[in-house]
Amino acid sequence: MTDDPIPRHGLRDRYWERVPLKNMSPREWEALCDGCGKCCLNKLEDPDTNEIAFTNVACRLLDDETCRCAQYEIRKQFVPDCVVLTPRNIAEIAYWMPSTCAYRLLYEGKALYDWHPLISGRAESVHEAGISLQGRTVPEFEIDEEEWEDHIIEEPT
Ligand code: SF4
Ligand code: SF4
Repeated sequence: MTDDPIPRHGLRDRYWERVPLKNMSPREWEALCDGCGKCCLNKLEDPDTNEIAFTNVACRLLDDETCRCAQYEIRKQFVPDCVVLTPRNIAEIAYWMPSTCAYRLLYEGKALYDWHPLISGRAESVHEAGISLQGRTVPEFEIDEEEWEDHIIEEPT
């Protein structure tokens, strides 16, 4: 069992159903992350259609067991282009986020899934539901970028 590194206690009751993204507190915003790790996969984008393909080639900082960033607080020092999702940039970013990502779901006016830790009360539920990347990735330092096309996968949903 992995501990949930995101503090989810003491938040407003079912706030994600009634508080707009832009009005959430920083803790409430952070607690939306389900810990799936899918946003840390390298993606390929078709320049003509903007269609996004996920690969199983993960960012060098992704821990494949916990599906968490190994250096979350200081990640920009190692991965300068890691995107920090905020209520201000979600409109430009949502289209390439995973379809089950809580930020994308709420931005698109959809509900969270029952396996989300905010609803299940357990961080493990995202792994048990088969949504996360646990044990499914290869680190980017092992795969040349020219070979990423051979690593395209269906997003676990
Ligand atoms: S895809 Fe969304 S919910 Fe999943 S780890 Fe990334 S930010 Fe969190
Ligand atoms: S730096 Fe961390 S949060 Fe950013 S993509 Fe890599 S593993 Fe994910």
